[in-house]
Amino acid sequence: MTDRKIPTKIYLEESEIPRQWYNVRADMKTKPAPLLNPATGRPCGFDDLTPVFCDDLVRQELDNDTAWFDIPQEIQDYYVQFRPSPLIRARQLEKALGTPAKIYFKFEGNNTSGSHKLNSASAQAYYAKKQGLKGVTTETGAGQWGTALAMSCAFFGLDCKVFMVKVSYEQKPFRREVMRTYGADVTPSPSNTTNVGRQILAEHPGTTGSLGCAISEAVEYAVSHEGYRYVLGSVLNQVLLHQSVIGLETKIACDKYGIEPDIIVGCAGGGSNLGGLISPFMGEKLRGEKDYRIIAVEPASCPSLTRGTFAYDFCDTGRVTPLAKMYTLGADFIPSPNHAGGLRFHGMSPILSQLYHDGYMEAVAYEQTQVFEAATLFARTEGILPAPESSHAILGAIREAEKCRETGEEKTILFGLTGTGYFDLVAYQSFNDGTLTDSIPTDADLAASFAKIPPMGNN
Ligand SMILES: *Cc1c(COP(=O)(O)O)cnc(C)c1O
Repeated sequence: MTDRKIPTKIYLEESEIPRQWYNVRADMKTKPAPLLNPATGRPCGFDDLTPVFCDDLVRQELDNDTAWFDIPQEIQDYYVQFRPSPLIRARQLEKALGTPAKIYFKFEGNNTSGSHKLNSASAQAYYAKKQGLKGVTTETGAGQWGTALAMSCAFFGLDCKVFMVKVSYEQKPFRREVMRTYGADVTPSPSNTTNVGRQILAEHPGTTGSLGCAISEAVEYAVSHEGYRYVLGSVLNQVLLHQSVIGLETKIACDKYGIEPDIIVGCAGGGSNLGGLISPFMGEKLRGEKDYRIIAVEPASCPSLTRGTFAYDFCDTGRVTPLAKMYTLGADFIPSPNHAGGLRFHGMSPILSQLYHDGYMEAVAYEQTQVFEAATLFARTEGILPAPESSHAILGAIREAEKCRETGEEKTILFGLTGTGYFDLVAYQSFNDGTLTDSIPTDADLAASFAKIPPMGNN
């Protein structure tokens, strides 16, 4: 198909929304390492995980072999409220960059939660309801995950208890009100409503919190209240499975119009959007059918892939979760308060960690002032106000497009635009005022938190 005939904004038909999720683990030669039970040091089985997580989600978590999972009809009925999402050609950005590259982005921000997180939130709420539970607990940093879960719990009829990192709770009161409007109960973390919260407050008085602390509190609440389970918005294998809907839709649109990406770029916090976007493409790469360059972009203030260590570590500060083998900065690492709240997790999806370790992906880290410059250029050319998290992927794509300008290569670059930035205007304000600063951990900072990584599973 000639370039002209391909619409700038590709919307699939409703009937083309994928009806199955794809599990990239099925095609991985080296599977991601299993979660370890911190009490025994042995791989977690079904019975280790079901006190914390919903049964069907545990089955998905542990399944390294089934390639395709049917998306239940009830979830499909919810997906049609915000899917398909468009695949958009960034023609004005290309023009501004003077690049021969073709830039496409998959836009997941067209729903009230403002991000891709609704794809997994709705799946997790559905399985909790199906199990007959009363409610679910979770943590939220920037607030997108909490909002997505609040919306999904309202849809499926579940209680939703959100521990929100204190700095975000204070900086983003409007996020909090959106969650409450959908019926969620929102507590700033660390709080004095849990043992682990009280302990963290005693050790770090005045702390503004972290995702790691909020996870500990949400897990404690779930296991100590009848009829509740804990749900997590990223990192876990099940979340990447649900997010594969992003990549599958992208692949259908690409195949329909003969678009062949050379380079696929995504921002990486816990790895769920990137994992979801690349899944079907990575599957082709793993099976030796096609090759793609795949690039993860992370903040220089929280550089788990580019400067972390590949080891078993806890997923939370309070050390109540199972251990995951992943690229980690250490569960005690608390990144400086930057504005890409959704990218501040100390670890990375075990699936992406393994793929990166095995050389199937690259990773780069950028400072937040550069990222906001890219966000501004994107907003002014493409019209969409991007989330700070998503803007890492924008900058990654811009850097590759600039290389094409130097070499004259007409590469096709695809990136994931995970969300919108309407709740991040305090961050935009400090960028516009010229007061935004970059802060990068020193090697000594990282060495100190690496030293606290437990020996379990690592020798
Ligand atoms: C949560 C979030 C991210 C990062 O999370 P991943 O699990 O790495 O995808 C990126 N962008 C937005 C808009 C988010 O809300």
